[in-house]
Amino acid sequence: MYIMPNNLGRQYLLHAEEYEKKAVEVLRSGWYILGNEVKSFEAEWAAYVGAKYCVSLASGLDALKISFELLGIGEGDEVIVCGNAYIACVMGITVKGATPVFIEPDQYDNIDADKIEEKITDKTKAILAVHLYGQACDMTKIMTIARKYCLRVVEDCAQSHGNHWQGQKVGTFGDIGCFSFYPSKGCGAFGDAGCVVTKDEALAQKFRIFRNYGSEKRYHNQMIGSNSRLDEIQAGLLRVKLKHLDDFNKERCQIAERYMKEINNPLVRLPQIRPGADSTWHQFVIHCKKRDELQKYLEEHEIGTLIHYPIPPHLSEAYAYLGMKKGDLPITEQYAAEVLSLPMYNGMTSEEQDWVIACINAFQPEV
Ligand SMILES: *Cc1c(COP(=O)(O)O)cnc(C)c1O
Repeated sequence: MYIMPNNLGRQYLLHAEEYEKKAVEVLRSGWYILGNEVKSFEAEWAAYVGAKYCVSLASGLDALKISFELLGIGEGDEVIVCGNAYIACVMGITVKGATPVFIEPDQYDNIDADKIEEKITDKTKAILAVHLYGQACDMTKIMTIARKYCLRVVEDCAQSHGNHWQGQKVGTFGDIGCFSFYPSKGCGAFGDAGCVVTKDEALAQKFRIFRNYGSEKRYHNQMIGSNSRLDEIQAGLLRVKLKHLDDFNKERCQIAERYMKEINNPLVRLPQIRPGADSTWHQFVIHCKKRDELQKYLEEHEIGTLIHYPIPPHLSEAYAYLGMKKGDLPITEQYAAEVLSLPMYNGMTSEEQDWVIACINAFQPEV
């Protein structure tokens, strides 16, 4: 049987009845936008993350875009971000014309905080800390630099639902924490969804106004906003998911622990966890110099894998206007050529894991 890189149906089946009950409840309520489910989910998510305010939005990309817009960061400004970020991170930065300044990743696949300071100019306005693959960046170093240069800090926690830096949940260090609830994320909705968290009450209120056509009072529009609201039905389903999130994360940790212990092939470099961080294993990402061969071999053995991400943002067509070329970010580019995400999902059986581990350990490239 084919093992998928991610299998959302399995996670759904673990609590199918609860989701179905909630969906029917919302459908029958007759109230579908900005109601009690949204209000309750926002309060519950803020409490879970340990943030003061949560404002739900339509997607993770919206969370990023609206953040930079409300922080007033646009044309002529620079924002620091890791080179191996997801493309959406960069699209959030550039929404109003700001320029992304890329920093190479370290061995933990996250931004190398020691390389940030050398890239700061008088145009630098913010750092976007992307907690990639479920692991926190070094928030101590990042916050120290931000304070020194008076920079804003936005955290992209799309892949990091519930993990910590030194015991504190990510999303609560900077000015704004952005989350995506895209179905494959830790606390995934059944469609698109996102939110921001912040400790700044005035800023939270700006997000609430922005997401609803820039109006606080119906038909009184105080700014050019957007329609970026979370649906009641998604909020209700997310409330069900959230109840199980810690258990989901625990299960992923167990799967990761087995991979860590049992994968043993000199061609494979296992993921590394930064001291002070824990991982919720959004992805289990190995590095392999023979990545393309390994991926093909696994596919032939009915094991699906993914690459996060094959083309780094600075080399993507969308950002050709930045004028960057191959060789500008050698570590980022090397990572793009060697990372591989192994199957990792709630409800993965130990037999499925046996097979993945056995195949990886048996892999030998043709010479
Ligand atoms: C998924 C993701 C996003 C975008 O979220 P959407 O809800 O899909 O718009 C942004 N940043 C990172 C790191 C992501 O993984």
